Amino acid sequence: MSFDEFDVVVVGGGPAGATAAHDLARQGRSVMLLDKAGRIKPCGGAIPPRLIRDFDIPNHMIVARVNAARMIAPSDAEVDMPIDGGYVGMVDRDGFDEFLRVRAATAGAERRIGSFERIEHDADGVAVVAYTPKGATEEIRVRARCIIGADGARSQVAKQSVKGADKIPCVFAYHEIVEAPTTEAPNYDATRCDVFYQGKLSPDFYAWIFPHGDKVSIGTGSAHKGFSLRGSVSELRASTGLDKVRTIRREGAPIPLKPLKRWDNGRDVVLAGDAAGVVAPSSGEGIYYAMLCGRLAADAAAEFCATGRASALATARKRFMKAHGRVFLILGIMQYFWYSSDKRREKFVAICRDKDVQRLTWEAYMNKELVKRDPMAHVKIFFKDLAHLVGLAGPRVAPASSTSRGDA
Ligand SMILES: Cc1cc2nc3c(=O)[nH]c(=O)nc-3n(C[C@H](O)[C@H](O)[C@H](O)COP(=O)(O)OP(=O)(O)OC[C@H]3O[C@@H](n4cnc5c(N)ncnc54)[C@H](O)[C@@H]3O)c2cc1C
Repeated sequence: MSFDEFDVVVVGGGPAGATAAHDLARQGRSVMLLDKAGRIKPCGGAIPPRLIRDFDIPNHMIVARVNAARMIAPSDAEVDMPIDGGYVGMVDRDGFDEFLRVRAATAGAERRIGSFERIEHDADGVAVVAYTPKGATEEIRVRARCIIGADGARSQVAKQSVKGADKIPCVFAYHEIVEAPTTEAPNYDATRCDVFYQGKLSPDFYAWIFPHGDKVSIGTGSAHKGFSLRGSVSELRASTGLDKVRTIRREGAPIPLKPLKRWDNGRDVVLAGDAAGVVAPSSGEGIYYAMLCGRLAADAAAEFCATGRASALATARKRFMKAHGRVFLILGIMQYFWYSSDKRREKFVAICRDKDVQRLTWEAYMNKELVKRDPMAHVKIFFKDLAHLVGLAGPRVAPASSTSRGDA
């Protein structure tokens, strides 16, 4: 029997896989993009300007532009963090992911809809990807010199190919998409993200209200098995007036919080995005990192196809960790420390009041680079952090007069 044959089969058509397929097709590689389809990825949809720039995202994909974040402490005290000269873009994942898949197909990738089953190998050592097309019962097999596993958290490709992939620690996140309020929620602001650091809403992560134009994402996350995510979102909606608006969808998904030690199998598979565990701790930001991983995995796969050297596959992780490993480490420590009790959350929100913290946080988020040109600001923050940690600085945050909620 003769099978279709590709240089690269990309499994998963989310931001990581669609980006990888697009880049490979543009490099002239024969590439197949396999995606299950039929489910909108549950996601807050916040993306940084760096992503919009690096991946040429057109304006019409941005359904809202956010110019501030409001941090809410356990005491209900609030700190507003305005963005100076920039914004956070909000995308709806149904339109955004489809745009990326169509772009990959337009560049030459062959799109197929179906569910990945397994990787086998022919007698000549070439990989064979078996998948079940949507609505069919018979499997189809295609030969591939290389496979990119971009099938998200709990990736089947990763589980079958890379040791330890079934043990990635995850936060489970859940959100409700609702209609944007008109008068029902007086404190709602369509240009601001609200982030709730309150143990009652999440004992180990945070809860959020993110504007999306005519919709809003209200969600929370936690790794605690017994914690009621639905209960938390319902409490948040009730306390903000957002229980009075129509619910459009309820959905949840795991967020992996630790990059795997290996992303490749040393032979013909490389992972990207959530499949590789690449979501930033503390923030849960994964779209930019998934797209970057997709790009790096595409480069690694192209090099492997060109040279036959399987060691090329490991360059994806090496290059990613060189650029972002330090930030992931710092964010991991921050999450472990600051999200562990209400007392610490209160201090964390208080620290966010500092103008240097605000500026460096936004610059790091928006440009995905640690700010090197202002070393004194880092030193100042270090000592302020230390003062908070040892209790020399008080935990009280902005009095109600500086923000709109009256109960701080
Ligand atoms: C509730 C929630 C809120 C979030 N909010 C944000 C946010 O505001 N900003 C941010 O940057 N990140 C956010 N994230 C994280 C972000 O959504 C992910 O990190 C990102 O989607 C990862 O992209 P990916 O392409 O690696 O995986 P995914 O987006 O999960 O894509 C995987 C793709 O693989 C396909 N697939 C899966 N299994 C198979 C199979 N067997 N066969 C074929 N195809 C398959 C799926 O259909 C899907 O299209 C959030 C996550 C959650 C759960």
